[in-house]
Amino acid sequence: MAHPTFDVIVIGAGGMGSAAAFELARRGRSVLALEQFPLVHDRGSSHGHTRIIRRAYYEDPAYVPLVRRAFERWYDLEQRTGQHLLTDCGCLVIGRPEGEVVSGVLASAGQHGLDVEHLTSSRLRERYPQFQFSDDYVGVLERDAGFLYVEECVRAHLEQARLLGATLHADEPVLSWTSNGNSASVTTAKATYHAQKLILTAGPWAGQLLAESGAMLRIMRQTLLWFGTNEPERFRRDHFPIFLVDVPEGPFYGLPEIDGRGIKVAQHYGSPELMSPSEVDRAIHAADEAPVRAFLTQHIPGANGPLHDAQTCIYTLTPDRHFLIDLHPQFANVAVAAGFSGHGFKFSSVVGEVLADLVEHGGTPWPINMFGFGRFQTIR
Ligand SMILES: Cc1cc2nc3c(=O)[nH]c(=O)nc-3n(C[C@H](O)[C@H](O)[C@H](O)COP(=O)(O)OP(=O)(O)OC[C@H]3O[C@@H](n4cnc5c(N)ncnc54)[C@H](O)[C@@H]3O)c2cc1C
Repeated sequence: MAHPTFDVIVIGAGGMGSAAAFELARRGRSVLALEQFPLVHDRGSSHGHTRIIRRAYYEDPAYVPLVRRAFERWYDLEQRTGQHLLTDCGCLVIGRPEGEVVSGVLASAGQHGLDVEHLTSSRLRERYPQFQFSDDYVGVLERDAGFLYVEECVRAHLEQARLLGATLHADEPVLSWTSNGNSASVTTAKATYHAQKLILTAGPWAGQLLAESGAMLRIMRQTLLWFGTNEPERFRRDHFPIFLVDVPEGPFYGLPEIDGRGIKVAQHYGSPELMSPSEVDRAIHAADEAPVRAFLTQHIPGANGPLHDAQTCIYTLTPDRHFLIDLHPQFANVAVAAGFSGHGFKFSSVVGEVLADLVEHGGTPWPINMFGFGRFQTIR
């Protein structure tokens, strides 16, 4: 059966692909988005109720202009849909002053004039008695942060894309793709589709679609856990912030109580690196709970209540933990966004814009130089 030729085909309709499909449809392009699972599912990286969004980016000050733009784009999406997607909530970083997270937050805030408040160890105890840390730990509070309802954000991007004319195919895995630099073809079990441009946003499966590109991607199983608290009103966002804690066991982060499920807590990184999502154990085990419960017992004892809920999720990692957003090294009509290394969702609203720029103009005014394929050559 003959299929129409699209301006752009997007492979993978998760966090990044949904935003790209929306932006291209908004620009009047004909778009086909192909998703291997039902739209908005829990087998990739964009599920688990919430995602943190913060501006004073400890990972590198170069992210700050992008996160500022991401905020604008989330507000724009809220306005278009009339939905509430982003909730304001302060973000408190706790660590030793010389540690990577505290010093990184201060570097970003200093370089970009962001408003943060320093909390000495005694001020930290006074202001947030829910936390217990020794005197060598300090806090940095950024009020201008918040959290996104992750599934609602993906759904909103997809729904807006559809309303603007994009074609969305769920339950249709892409088996292969080809490009000659000017046009591209994508084959699924149902059909072969043609387009001028291609966007690859396959999340944890990106490595499989990028085999010849030189991309160095690994994946990591993560678990999200929700714990009951002894006094729920003390752990609501009017009393308790988003937190990111830099302790020797590795960073832990969490969000306040929002819906009766308790606070959400997780360890950032800390699991073995894997090659493929098929290796990920989706079941939750006692061993997943143990390190988080040990952290809560020691540092947030009031939130060491019953385990109310748990989910597995997948990080896609680059060696330097910075994103991969670039044109494909062999094909100028193929743009790639992957390897978000466990901190990408907040940016998806602007990544959609960047990907649309890349396939339309071959470049973007947004600062993405540090996210290129080229760096993998030097890492090898
Ligand atoms: C536990 C956890 C907590 C996180 N917390 C935060 C946070 O607080 N803040 C933050 O900013 N980020 C956070 N992140 C990171 C963020 O969620 C991810 O960076 C982001 O969701 C990645 O989006 P993606 O589009 O690359 O992947 P996905 O959303 O997984 O999308 C990829 C899509 O491609 C589809 N696909 C793959 N292969 C094919 C194929 N062959 N054919 C068709 N479809 C295909 C998949 O099914 C999937 O739907 C967290 C991640 C996890 C796992």
